[in-house]
Amino acid sequence: MSAKTGLDALDLAQKRVLMRVDFNVPQDEHGAITDDTRIRAALPTIQEVLKKGGKPILMTHLGRPKGVDEKLRLDPVAKRLSELLGAPVTKLQDSTGPEVEKAAAAATGVVMLENVRFNKGETKGDVELAKSYAKLGDVFVNDAFGTSHRDESSVSGVARLLPSVAGRLLEKEIAAFARVLEKPERPFLAILGGAKVSDKLLVIDNLLAKVDVLIIGGGMAYTFLKAQGHAIGKSLCEDDRLDTCKAALAKAKELGVEILLPIDHVVADEFKNDARSKNSPLDIPGGWMALDIGPKTRKLFTDKIAGAKTVMWNGPMGVFEMESFRQGTASVGRAVADCEGYTVVGGGDSVAAIELLGLASKIKHISTGGGASLELLEGKALPGIVSLSIP
Ligand code: AMP
Repeated sequence: MSAKTGLDALDLAQKRVLMRVDFNVPQDEHGAITDDTRIRAALPTIQEVLKKGGKPILMTHLGRPKGVDEKLRLDPVAKRLSELLGAPVTKLQDSTGPEVEKAAAAATGVVMLENVRFNKGETKGDVELAKSYAKLGDVFVNDAFGTSHRDESSVSGVARLLPSVAGRLLEKEIAAFARVLEKPERPFLAILGGAKVSDKLLVIDNLLAKVDVLIIGGGMAYTFLKAQGHAIGKSLCEDDRLDTCKAALAKAKELGVEILLPIDHVVADEFKNDARSKNSPLDIPGGWMALDIGPKTRKLFTDKIAGAKTVMWNGPMGVFEMESFRQGTASVGRAVADCEGYTVVGGGDSVAAIELLGLASKIKHISTGGGASLELLEGKALPGIVSLSIP
């Protein structure tokens, strides 16, 4: 029998369970929460801790405050959590110190500390700060996948000081990426898009050793096309990366990885939704910029996706925020949703596109962390995961 891991490895009864969650939710100008997905995502772990007799003491960051910022206090977040749990949540006005220790010990039910980024040293991983968090708990649970790529006091710092495990959300993310990156069913196809090739070079390098097919679309495709000698008009291009793109194409050939790039495009004369636009062949006429993949490319990409057994998608195929240039991303999104293989979508923009299309329920795993998922795809170990004492 295998050793117990995660929450199953700890006796939580009567324990103060210090838990890092990622409740960095979007808010409107009045502070109202506009999307509570991140709060909902942590509910299973919180409910399990409660059921096992533990006392959850939650900590999270919200926004990027420099010191205390009244607008970024967690009261609206605690209120929403309380509504979703159907139970009271005691929100404290600070996150460290004797008063907080006393108040956390005295409270019944769920406790929420104040925004950890009000503390100097939090984002630098200050060890003394981590020690003051550690005084609040008997054990530590990390359920904040979205911040697990950060070596911060409330993420990896405190994990090194207490018996620590992954929560259910983090566990699910780790399992999904392991399934894709360690033992993918083949053919394994990855789709990369988005604006900048420079942001994804490490991902490309790592994925080339693992995938059978790599689809590259979006703004980043045009540096590749220029590297192949094609005309790209005034499309997005990073000229200082042309050699790196050539090297990636050569590596793919050597490894027998099929790389698919756009073979036609939707081009516009300006970067705006109501710009003049038309379909363009592979070589783009001067004065025009590609803002989406064209119809032949949509067919090429979606046919390939249909035959894959594992699909990993990160990054849109065009400027999907503008309705005129959304079709490529929508077609790819639908093809991923219809694919019968194991499908994972990560990265803020592709997740937003999937949600916009109402396809979320048809994707096998939607990652809750943009930066964290990219670092996993780069082959990096995440501090918030490797710091856990019981993996
Ligand atoms: P990233 O943050 O690198 O994942 O890039 C996402 C952004 O890339 C989105 O805001 C898209 O609008 C943008 N994008 C995708 N395709 C293109 C393109 N062909 N030209 C310019 N921007 C693009």
